[in-house]
Amino acid sequence: MEQRGFVFIEENLLSPAQAVATFLARVAVAPRAFERVRLEDACGRILAERIVADADYPSVPRSAMDGFAIDAARAPGTFSVVGEILMGHPWGALLQAGQTVRIPTGGVVPDGADAVVPIEDVQLSGQNVAVEAALDAGTNVNPRAGDMRAGTPILEPGTRIGGPQMGVLATLGITAVPVFPRPRIAVISSGDELVPPAMHPGPGQVRDSNRHAIAGALQGMGAQPFHGATVSDVPGALERALRKALAEADAAIVTGGSSVGELDRTPAAIAALGTPGVIVHGLRVKPGKPTVLAAVGSKPVIGLPGNPTSALVILEAVIRPIIAALAGAPLLVSTVLARLGSPARSRRGWTWFIPVRLEEDGEGSLAWPLPVRSSLVSLTAQADGYIVVPEEAEDLEMGSRVTVHRFI
Ligand code: AMP
Ligand code: MG
Repeated sequence: MEQRGFVFIEENLLSPAQAVATFLARVAVAPRAFERVRLEDACGRILAERIVADADYPSVPRSAMDGFAIDAARAPGTFSVVGEILMGHPWGALLQAGQTVRIPTGGVVPDGADAVVPIEDVQLSGQNVAVEAALDAGTNVNPRAGDMRAGTPILEPGTRIGGPQMGVLATLGITAVPVFPRPRIAVISSGDELVPPAMHPGPGQVRDSNRHAIAGALQGMGAQPFHGATVSDVPGALERALRKALAEADAAIVTGGSSVGELDRTPAAIAALGTPGVIVHGLRVKPGKPTVLAAVGSKPVIGLPGNPTSALVILEAVIRPIIAALAGAPLLVSTVLARLGSPARSRRGWTWFIPVRLEEDGEGSLAWPLPVRSSLVSLTAQADGYIVVPEEAEDLEMGSRVTVHRFI
């Protein structure tokens, strides 16, 4: 008889949070050494080094308004207009007592001036402007180094580069940006019943949807998934596919065959690859109990259930921090506070991840729990996210306040 190395003993199962903590304590998950990409290609990437201002920005005081540059100590008073400052060109001379120059927003405030009076606040007559009110030095002036000071850290490693960070990098003249490589993650599916999407499934066959769902979700998490083999349930096939994939990949995700049935070869295949091997098998969670957290060296190997809803929910709700650690990224979570539109059923002692659809009514967001059937492909596609019902909770009543984690 074939040896069965794994069985689930319910009271020994870990909660998802315990499982991930156990895994991350055992496996040194980290991004590869950083690379540099062109500024144009940096958006969406994870910064790998601290960015420090190389100089003062702005390097000179600049006007915050269209108006007249004056010495504030001489206001109220009348000033003679001796010229106009052009954008991109400093005045070049010292402004004398009682003089002013016309200055545009962003123009360099000349030496001898320390404030700008907006054009609408002066009386113009011929070559003179009259300033009727007193004003403080620095009024309407963006001072030197007021934005970034030389030597000051501006962006920290692990920052996700979005539009605002792109603006900082461009301002600092960083055209080759140090970023962590996107983790390359092999996606492998297993099951004798699987056919590729281009084929028509015969009775009992299903199109391999999981690998595409998983690859899509991984892309959204900043990883670079690639398709590994689709393996049959014969002994040895998955182990070979995993060895091949891990030669190139930083991690592998297998879907199907992760439970304790006779054809469930994922745990044994991973165990055969080397140490530390299987770290967690089975989670105290619905859906997605038959999940495997394993590693070969420092490369995570994750066994997801074959059932499509379970696979995707576990990837989003449980595996995401492991992917984030590989990417060198902070854990990105997008949440919405909502009220439950109808009760959500759960079972004490188990963490439930319940997909929900979001709707807006006059009072905010309503979350409608969808009936959890782990075998469905369409369920997560109809959901906007999921709620977590913790172990210690029973059913949640209609109207309960919930945090919806969006599928990103
Ligand atoms: P398993 O985890 O291998 O026992 O599979 C559980 C269920 O998920 C079975 O109904 C499988 O047909 C289905 N399944 C497994 N892998 C995939 C896949 N890659 N795409 C879609 N369904 C799958
Ligand atoms: Mg199977």
